[in-house]
Amino acid sequence: MEKNSLIRTEAFVNGQWVKAASSKTFEVTNPATGEVLAQVTDMDRADVQQAIDAAHKAWPSYRDTTAKERANLLRKWFNLMLEHKQELAELMTLECGKVLQESLGEVEYGASFIEWFAEEAKRAYGDVIPAYSKDRRLVVIKQSVGVAAAITPWNFPLAMITRKVGPALAAGSTVVVKPPSETPLTALAISYLAQKAGFPPGVYNTITSSNSSEIGKELCENTKVRKLSFTGSTPVGKILMTQSASTLKKLSLELGGNAPFIVFDDADLDAAVKGAILSKFRNNGQTCVCVNRVLVQESVYDAFVEKFTQAVADLKVGNGLQKDVQVGPLINKKGLEKVQQHVQDAVEKGATVTTGGKHLEGLFYQPTVLANASPEMLIAREEVFGPVAPVFKFSTEQEAIEMANDTDYGLASYFYSKDVARCWRVSEALEYGMVGINEGMISTEVAPFGGIKESGFGREGSKYGLDYFMEIKYMCFGGIE
Ligand code: NAP
Repeated sequence: MEKNSLIRTEAFVNGQWVKAASSKTFEVTNPATGEVLAQVTDMDRADVQQAIDAAHKAWPSYRDTTAKERANLLRKWFNLMLEHKQELAELMTLECGKVLQESLGEVEYGASFIEWFAEEAKRAYGDVIPAYSKDRRLVVIKQSVGVAAAITPWNFPLAMITRKVGPALAAGSTVVVKPPSETPLTALAISYLAQKAGFPPGVYNTITSSNSSEIGKELCENTKVRKLSFTGSTPVGKILMTQSASTLKKLSLELGGNAPFIVFDDADLDAAVKGAILSKFRNNGQTCVCVNRVLVQESVYDAFVEKFTQAVADLKVGNGLQKDVQVGPLINKKGLEKVQQHVQDAVEKGATVTTGGKHLEGLFYQPTVLANASPEMLIAREEVFGPVAPVFKFSTEQEAIEMANDTDYGLASYFYSKDVARCWRVSEALEYGMVGINEGMISTEVAPFGGIKESGFGREGSKYGLDYFMEIKYMCFGGIE
């Protein structure tokens, strides 16, 4: 920790590192050891207003830079992130428990959004519309939305920020980032790199606080904030949407999921097991696109459960900084209690634990498989957000689709089959924003990420991502003889 050159504990506002007016701080701890890592500035609503004012003041001149100038800044920032990849990854593992290999992957994944949008900004094309009368010309241009706020979760301390600020900064918006209180250090480290990249004062601001509900209110109700992009749980997303009604703020909501992972009888079972392990146990089951329900066709159910159980039993649990560890701790006590509650509930309702099922020490829980899972179990409805995989049985394709869609969520879904016609039918029938077909890892900066139903709305990454930080303006030129 002491050797890490990126450690910053003050908030970053208007190009300065600042304390809260109250001088209050809050603790950041390591979930693997319980050790206190740092004391970070604890801002209140008035502090946050200053950050919003700074972003608002910086907007007109930043908005008027060319896309190429903004791309150059973003490119510098991208390069700095990669130069400091090891330090960023270590910091991330320390504060969120993710195993180091995954943290290194997240730095690359997170940085890729900065590179992508640096390039995309140059292609924010407008339109010329064929006029409806001879003396007119109709043109459409796209302009930056204004101050954009980002509220992000702890499970991707870096990438959930860059996925939002990449397009915002590329479009010409200024930003106010509110990272989670669990993982502010990675957020502050990349703010330091943004400062080094040369973003003008006020363009990039990071506010830290342990009072997220008060800060959230300010970001929703302040009229200077024109856009709020949130990634987090569905209940908090609903609060933010309600609070944003008074200012009719533009919203993007990337919320929770309940991903089905369907294994059909014609699937390559070994590939399906590999995909399920990747998707379920990434970040210890704590991602919004992690498999939450494994649905397996009855004729291959026993064979799949056997192979899957073996692969899960082989996963190595431990401190993410240690070599070869594949599964780290849960983020906090609340997360651990949810996992325990889901397993207990499932067992009481008839599930069989084929591996795992026990709390280890501290925030560590054994990777677990629950066979004979059924729809009335809590885990069928709620995100478990931990290392537990319930396996359900189905008999027909139609039944699998109905089971998969029987949820309020609609973020990621996956299935394995070698039948091309079935691949099309099932992909089209799944009510989800994203579908992995014979693939358990689908996130990339070049494709649109987002959900439907109560998983929210808006898309991040890809050629669509920039539009969520831009307004469309129609101009009608009259009197043209
Ligand atoms: P969370 O409790 O909703 O928190 C997310 C962020 O919102 C944090 O910064 C948190 O700050 C803040 N927050 C909490 N209550 C708030 C309030 N009343 N007003 C304003 N801000 C508030 O979610 P989480 O537990 O950190 O993250 C896990 C959830 O995120 C899961 O449901 C997961 O599926 C979802 N997720 C979705 C995506 C996606 O792209 N769809 C990606 C990753 C995660 P504090 O932590 O400081 O309270």
